[in-house]
Amino acid sequence: MFKAVFPGSFDPPTLGHLNIIERACDIFEEIVVVVAENRQKRYLFSAQERLEIMEGMLKHKKNVHCRIWDSLIVDYMKQEGIQVLIRGIRGMEDFSYEFELSMMNKALHPGIETFFMTTDPRYIVLRSSSIKELASFRGDVSLMVPPIVVEALKAKFPPEGNN
Ligand code: ADP
Repeated sequence: MFKAVFPGSFDPPTLGHLNIIERACDIFEEIVVVVAENRQKRYLFSAQERLEIMEGMLKHKKNVHCRIWDSLIVDYMKQEGIQVLIRGIRGMEDFSYEFELSMMNKALHPGIETFFMTTDPRYIVLRSSSIKELASFRGDVSLMVPPIVVEALKAKFPPEGNN
């Protein structure tokens, strides 16, 4: 009853994701961060890298666990007997997409409840795809992602002249 999942690509995780997880940790007994491995998607970071980054940035939270899942999130929830699925909302665009997704998940597994958490206004414009683009041009992302992600992005996009 008091467990929840927070699924996503997290390619890479941002301060927006971290904020949602930290707030959810104060409400639920246990949060499972589920890192998606979708073979049809192209990721910058492998599932294992995204998992390790997530674990690294959540060391201070004792009631969070991270795992990789390569199938439907509802199947993971059924298998583990978890009823609550958390999604973050930055605005109406996220909401209309997430609303449809929640209806689809409900059709697949009526027992599931989606909880929407609105973003902290500080993180409203943070989006993994824009952060990757910025990092690819060697822009400063240190106010957008945790330090462990800054380092991981630097390793993917070494300073000009080093590659
Ligand atoms: P997905 O590919 O599943 O959408 P993301 O990693 O992009 O995975 O996002 C995972 C969840 O986090 C989604 O619910 C998304 O709306 C939410 N999210 C992403 N960025 C933010 C942010 N800056 N603030 C709050 N929620 C966010």
